[in-house]
Amino acid sequence: MLAALLDRPRSWLIAHDDELLDQAQGTAYEQWLTRRRDGEPLAYLLGEKEFHGLRLQVDSSVLVPRPETELLVDWGLRVLQAWPTKAARCRVIDLGTGSGAIALSIKHNSHAAEVTAVDASPTALATAARNAQSLNLPVMLALGNWWDAVPGQRFDIALANPPYIAPGDEHLGALRHEPQGALIAQDDGLADLAHIIDGAPGHLAPEGWLLLEHGHDQAPWVRQRLTASGFAEVQTVRDLAGIERCTGGRVLPGATPAFRVVSSAV
Ligand code: GLN
Repeated sequence: MLAALLDRPRSWLIAHDDELLDQAQGTAYEQWLTRRRDGEPLAYLLGEKEFHGLRLQVDSSVLVPRPETELLVDWGLRVLQAWPTKAARCRVIDLGTGSGAIALSIKHNSHAAEVTAVDASPTALATAARNAQSLNLPVMLALGNWWDAVPGQRFDIALANPPYIAPGDEHLGALRHEPQGALIAQDDGLADLAHIIDGAPGHLAPEGWLLLEHGHDQAPWVRQRLTASGFAEVQTVRDLAGIERCTGGRVLPGATPAFRVVSSAV
């Protein structure tokens, strides 16, 4: 925090450990310490967070990008590299983009991809727009609730890190400074995952993929829901801690749902 506040590298701090802060620096540092002591994420104090090699601006309107989500980006990039019609532009959508972390990492690594970033929060979308501009990564931005933001459009790869924490979960106390709408979902944390899966067949191109991040114990449910919605090649990827963290599948032409999903209740 001190290095950021003084705009010096850590080595400078070590080499100048006898320097004094002036009044303004001292006050600013005290304020940061107080906010940090109250559990506010460091990224909000610094106003930035590194994600997948990109320096993203963040503020309290967006979730702080997590390292686990880099796994979802890597999966999306693998699918992109293997995409059969390399000549044609691959259409990618990031649902619930927040700071733009997923969408911008994809665009950064695959300039030919046509990337759309969706968020229901205008302030979050404005943050994503600022990041797109400062990183010089052109993506399309769409305001709206999940698929509602892109009526009539189809995509080859859809990625999402939706809210998936159950209301009342014991971990929410530690996350109280982050936008609760980006963290909490009804139906035990499954409502938004369900909504995205159910809408996906109507918004994916033939052979298109849907890749989802989810909670540590939600993989079996997500696999089941994808299979029930007609997805094939349903599979789960574990994070570096060995936890089932992302699940996805693809729509194959002619596939029919194993059964019709009539309710999003669990
Ligand atoms: N993985 C995040 C956390 O546990 C939650 C992200 C989310 O709800 N999408 O803090």
